[in-house]
Amino acid sequence: MSTKNTAPKYNYPHRHLLGIDGLSRDDVYAILDVAEDYVEKNRQLDKKHPLLKGRTLINLFFEDSTRTRTSFELAGKRLGADVINMSVSNSSVKKGETLIDTAMTLNAMHPDFIVVRHPESGAPELLARKVNCAVINGGDGSHEHPTQALLDALTIRRHKGKIEGLKVAICGDILHSRVARSNMKLLTLLGAKVHIVAPPTLMIACPEAYGVTPFHDMRKGISDCDVVMTLRLQTERMNGSFVPSNREYFHFWGLDREKMAHAKPDAIILDPGPIIRGLQIDSELADDIERSVILDQVEMGVAIRQAVMHLLNPHEKI
Ligand code: ASP
Repeated sequence: MSTKNTAPKYNYPHRHLLGIDGLSRDDVYAILDVAEDYVEKNRQLDKKHPLLKGRTLINLFFEDSTRTRTSFELAGKRLGADVINMSVSNSSVKKGETLIDTAMTLNAMHPDFIVVRHPESGAPELLARKVNCAVINGGDGSHEHPTQALLDALTIRRHKGKIEGLKVAICGDILHSRVARSNMKLLTLLGAKVHIVAPPTLMIACPEAYGVTPFHDMRKGISDCDVVMTLRLQTERMNGSFVPSNREYFHFWGLDREKMAHAKPDAIILDPGPIIRGLQIDSELADDIERSVILDQVEMGVAIRQAVMHLLNPHEKI
């Protein structure tokens, strides 16, 4: 792993991480491989590796978050950075400040990384045009959540030994999900065959643009799959009602043992969380350690965020 005074091991050409778009397979493998090192380091008693000593990370969150915010915070701290957490409820945005003004204000304090989560698709890109530091997309509207897809890929690779050639079903509210979009792009880039499974009201208009196959029947969609990913209903992004009732939704679209029996016998289950038990997935199945790798995803999340900051670290490029 490269340090301040040695040549970088990876030729990682990007300044920001705004989405999966624009990443090559080599870029993705560089992130996954660096993350593997951090997985091991994070399992040691001493978890600090001060690659980012003297750097400042600002977590700028305009939407709630549990996993993403805490894992970026932990990732930054384990790399020795100073970490500031800003959420909209205690910022000037509540008083009417625009995203650009907030960005310019923060930029004047010379941060080295800004992680931004925002309800509007495209907000991180706008921010990246205005600031001098690296911008990392922590989830923008229904658009992208690149670090989630990367940690999903790392979780899958560690369990299955590869991603190329696997069959992956992504099930649930595809229409509103940034996790679905980033995963469709990333998994197809890495050579997986991706099925998307949703009711007609929650399906995207052009699955062929992503190179994925749509299904409305969940049993057919997950048939013979190696990986099944469930997604929450993104009610905060819905105007009106998209499903008849929660009970009916679970009956047709919730993952339970009977539906899971259509996947490969050794298929694993992923979910980015939050898990709404009894809606997108049966509660007992979500806790089945033979099947569910949901907590592994959380562990991989810290390592992936360390890897992303490692590769975006300006000194790594000198
Ligand atoms: N945590 C993920 C996201 O921020 C998934 C979700 O909220 O449903 O998109």
